[in-house]
Amino acid sequence: MPFTQSDAPARPGRAPGSIDYRFARRQVLRRVRAGELQRSEVCDAQRELLRVAEHYSQRATTPCPVCGESELRIVRYVFGPRLPAGGRAVASRAELRKLAAGRSGLRCYTVEVCLGCRWNHLVEVVPLASSSDPEPVAPARSRPRSSS
Ligand SMILES: [Zn+2]
Repeated sequence: MPFTQSDAPARPGRAPGSIDYRFARRQVLRRVRAGELQRSEVCDAQRELLRVAEHYSQRATTPCPVCGESELRIVRYVFGPRLPAGGRAVASRAELRKLAAGRSGLRCYTVEVCLGCRWNHLVEVVPLASSSDPEPVAPARSRPRSSS
């Protein structure tokens, strides 16, 4: 797998069977800001992941949470039967739909990658149903909380 799997606690996501790593991501970012983690420990995207982020990704709507530059990209990898062991990078939702059509057992890994500082983190894992469209991913945009 070309990206680091989170060992932090994951939570069930919104879609059935999905796993949400946003909580783990926030914890990592908090530890970086607190000085418990070095930037070099979390800004370690491999060359292959950076290449995919540059060419097969969507631009995130918010800046990088680590360096603040507008170089954050959303990368999606699909894993499943008859796909490469390292997954297939998918650039658009249309491509994702096409890949999922008529297949089952596919899972989409969404990773955010910064081309500036090499920050990368798994955001969520969502099973792809052949008939349904996966939830649009907007990992960087935090929703306002009503309970305060
Ligand atoms: Zn960055």
